[in-house]
Order: sequence, then structure tokens, then C-alpha cells
Amino acid sequence: DPGIDAGAARAWVRGAADVFGRRMDYLTGLDTAIGDGDHGTNMQRGFAAAAEAVGSGDHGTAGEVFTTTGRTLISSVGGASGPLYGSLFRTAGKRLSGAGTEPGDVGSALEDGVEAVGRLGGAREGDKTLLDACLPAVAALTGVLRSRGDVVEAARAAADAAAKGAKDTEDMVARKGRASYMGQRSAGHRDPGAASAALLFEALATAVGE
Ligand code: ADP
Ligand code: MG
Ligand code: MG
Repeated sequence: DPGIDAGAARAWVRGAADVFGRRMDYLTGLDTAIGDGDHGTNMQRGFAAAAEAVGSGDHGTAGEVFTTTGRTLISSVGGASGPLYGSLFRTAGKRLSGAGTEPGDVGSALEDGVEAVGRLGGAREGDKTLLDACLPAVAALTGVLRSRGDVVEAARAAADAAAKGAKDTEDMVARKGRASYMGQRSAGHRDPGAASAALLFEALATAVGE
């Protein structure tokens, strides 16, 4: 089993850049309702830069692709989502570089990455942030990888869990980020970061399914 190798990791980042380009207005619309209306452009700019930085081909390791992606997101995105997604990928990349190539390693690395996001932003599950999509996504990913080791099935489960997690933020009141300034009025809207996380994991399912 190839797990997620450098080629698949690149395909993920490039696919994410493509989807954030196409869905920029959707994400910006969500952020206009409960934030400052820049989430679409932040994600588009960050992942376009990351796709450029990781290049193409199969050379290197998935860990290197993730580390470059994380570093690029941090340096190219001004909003909160840049450092948050950036630390996710950088932490995952660092963890992967010391690991073997078992399929489960990528799951554990992304789990560490999401934990780093929690430490950096101080948010927990239910605070109406991108964590509400990322946490169930990596839990689903690692669950399938550890039980059956099938990367395609695991990525599909992660994408489905992230989509549900993003939808569930609609009922939540924001306790972190700009949306928290709205208090109760943030309820009834989907969190922009959770929505982008759902697109990110959908891009992973597409990348490993190809
Ligand atoms: P900004 O709010 O700085 O304009 P973005 O619009 O790019 O940044 O990203 C907003 C998203 O970032 C939110 O929808 C939320 O999901 C996520 N976010 C904001 N603050 C935090 C935090 N402290 N922890 C986790 N996620 C956060
Ligand atoms: Mg914003
Ligand atoms: Mg902003």
C-alpha cells in the first residue's frame, strides 16, 4: 500500500488550490455574514502559493510537501486561517519526516497537525471554528486507516465527516475568531473556516481517489 506519498500530497495541495479558486466567492460570502469577508481570498491566495511552492512530480516526501505547504500558508495569508492551516500542515510535515511510510502515519501526522491548531488558537470542539470540521475529519481518517488501512476509503470518510462537521457549525455560537464578536447572532450561519476545511478534505478524497 503506497499510503499518501509525495505525489498524492502534491495532488492534494494542487487540487485544494483549484477548489479554493472555484469556491472563493462561496467562502467569502460565509465570512461576510459573520466575519470580515476575506476568507475566500485568503484560502485562494494561500493555496495558490502553496501549489506553486510544492511544484509537480513525485520527488521528495509527503512530509516535505506538507512542511512547504504549511510554511507558505503562514507567510502568504494575512488572516487567522493562514497561521492556523499553516501550523496544521507544518506540524504534520515535521511528524511525517521522522516516520515510516505506513498508511496510518499520515493519519497520525494530520491528527498532530489538528492538535497544533487547537493549541495555537485556543479553540475547542463546539467553538464554531475550522476545528469543528478538522477534528471529525482526522478522527475518521485515522479510524479507517488503523482498522483497514485503505487510504481511499479513509479519505472519503474524512471528507464526509468534515462536511457534516461544517454543516453542524450552523447551530453553534462562535467562541473564537471574529465571528465571536457577534455573539448569539453568529448562530444560523455556517463557519467559513469549517466550510473551507470541508473543501480541503474533499480535495484529499479526490486526490487519493485518482
Ligand atoms: P480572519 O478572521 O483573520 O479574517 P479568515 O477569514 O481567513 O481570517 O478565517 C476565519 C476562520 O478562521 C474562522 O471562520 C474560523 O474557522 C477560523 N478561526 C478563527 N479564529 C480561530 C481560532 N482561534 N481557532 C481556530 N480557528 C479559528
Ligand atoms: Mg476573515
Ligand atoms: Mg481578515
